[in-house]
Amino acid sequence: MKDLFYKSTRSSDERVKSCEAIVKGLAGDGGLFVPIEIPKIEKSLDELMTMNYKDLAFYIMKKYFTDFDECELKECIEKAYDEKFETQLIAPVVEKAGVFFLELYHGPTLAFKDMALSILPYLLIKASKKLNVDKEIVILTATSGDTGKAALEGFADVEGVKIIVFYPQDGVSEVQRMQMITQRGLNTFVVGIKGNFDDAQRGVKETFADRKFNKKINDMGYMFSSANSINIGRLVPQIVYYFYGYLNLLKEKKIKDREKINIVVPTGNFGNILAAYYAKKMGLPVNKLICASNENNVLYDFINTGIYDRRREFKKTISPSMDILVSSNLERFLYDISDCDEKAISDMMNKLNKYGIYEIPDEMKEKLDVIYGGYATKYETYNAIEEVYNRSDYLIDTHTAVAYFVYKKYKEETNDNTKTIIASTASPFKFTRDVLKAVDNKYEKFSDFELIEKMAELLGTNVPKGIKDLNKREILHKYTCKGNEIKETILKLLEGK
Ligand SMILES: *Cc1c(COP(=O)(O)O)cnc(C)c1O
Repeated sequence: MKDLFYKSTRSSDERVKSCEAIVKGLAGDGGLFVPIEIPKIEKSLDELMTMNYKDLAFYIMKKYFTDFDECELKECIEKAYDEKFETQLIAPVVEKAGVFFLELYHGPTLAFKDMALSILPYLLIKASKKLNVDKEIVILTATSGDTGKAALEGFADVEGVKIIVFYPQDGVSEVQRMQMITQRGLNTFVVGIKGNFDDAQRGVKETFADRKFNKKINDMGYMFSSANSINIGRLVPQIVYYFYGYLNLLKEKKIKDREKINIVVPTGNFGNILAAYYAKKMGLPVNKLICASNENNVLYDFINTGIYDRRREFKKTISPSMDILVSSNLERFLYDISDCDEKAISDMMNKLNKYGIYEIPDEMKEKLDVIYGGYATKYETYNAIEEVYNRSDYLIDTHTAVAYFVYKKYKEETNDNTKTIIASTASPFKFTRDVLKAVDNKYEKFSDFELIEKMAELLGTNVPKGIKDLNKREILHKYTCKGNEIKETILKLLEGK
C-alpha cells in the first residue's frame, strides 16, 4: 500500500507520515496536520457489515496509518478496545424517541473521548519507537472536562510518557472534577486553571508554538505532544464509529443498502463532527451533518453567515464540554472546503488570533451546505432530557440533549424524514444533577454523589464502573495556576517541585 502523507493546514513546508504527525501533535507552523488526500473505502458496505468493532477499526485506521505494520496496528486496537469497555459492542446503537442514539460512552471514563484516547497512547508509543525518539514525551492537554480524564486514564503508568492536564477550575461538573483529581499514576499531573477552557487551550497552544520554551524542554530530556483532538491520532479512531453505527442499522435492517442517514453531533472543538465529515468523504452515505451547539453558539452563527466571531461573552452552561468559543478542528474543515488553500487558511487563523473574527469567501460559503447548524438554550436542553425520558424511559446526558433538541428543530424546519443517528457523547451518570433535575425536581436536595445512586435506581441498572465510589477516592492533585502561568507550572512539575 502506498504511504499516506500529512501536511499542515497552513503551509506546505512539512510532509510527514502518520507516525510523525501523531508524535508532534501540531505542525511546526501552528497549523493542524491533515492527510494529503482523504482515503476512500473500497469494500462494499455489505462486506464491512459483518465486521466487529475491532476489525472495522483496523480496516479504517490502516488507511490513515499506512506506516504502521499490520501487526502493530492490530496490537494497538486489541489493547484499546478490551474489557475497559462495559460492552463488547463498544459503541451500541439504540432506538429511542424516534431516533437512533449511538452510545459512545461505555468506556472507562463515561464519555466518547475514550473511543480515541484508549488507543492514542499505544499509537504514540509505537510511533515514537519507530522514529527513535530519545526524549520522554510530555502530553499537554487542555480539557473542557472529558478529554482530561480520558487522557489521564489512557496514559496513566505508560512508560516513557508524562501527562499534564489543565482544566478550568470552575468550569467542569463535580463528577468530572473528582474523576480527574483522584487520578492514579505517578506520571499524571492535573492542574486547575483560574479561567475558562479557552484560556486553558490558548495557554497550551502557545506553549506548543513557543520554540524557545520547546528547546529548553528538549534540553531537559523531554518533548511535548498533544492528546487533544488537534492530534490526528485522535481524530482517525473517531471515524470508525460512524461507520459502525451505520453498519449496525444496515445489519438490523433499519435502513437499506446505500440509504443516506443524517448524523447529529453535539459540538465543541469540532473534532467529533469532523470525524463524521471525513467518514462521509470516505464513502459513508450521509445526507446532512447536524452541528449542535449550546449557548456558546459561535459555530451556529458561522454556519449560517460564514463569519466566525469569537468576540462574545463566554457562557457557562449545563453542557460544559461544549463551552468553547474557538473550535480548533474547524480549521481542518475549512482547509477541505477551500480546496486546500493553505494561504487563505493561514490568513483566517491570523485574523482570528489578532481580531477575533474572520469571514470566509463566497465560494467557501456555498460548501457550508453539508452542515446544518443549530443550538439549544439551557431550558431547551432540560426539556429535551425530559421529553426523551417520558417517551422512552431513557436518560440522555446534557450534551446529547443539546443534539436531540437541535435535531427536532431541524426536522421541524425541513420536514426531512431521513433516518438519523445522534452521537451520544456522555453517560447521563456524568451529569447526574442536571439530568435528574430535568426529570423531576424532587432530586434537588441530594448531593451529586447521592444522585449517582438515585439514577441507578431510576434506571434499574448498576452504577458504571468508572464512577463507582468516586467520592470515596483520595484526592491526589491539588495544583492550580492562572491561564498565563502554564509554562512556569510545567517547568515546576517536570522538575519535581
Ligand atoms: C468533548 C465533548 C463534546 C464535544 O466534542 P468535540 O469533538 O470537541 O466537538 C461533546 N460532548 C461531550 C460529552 C464531550 O466530552
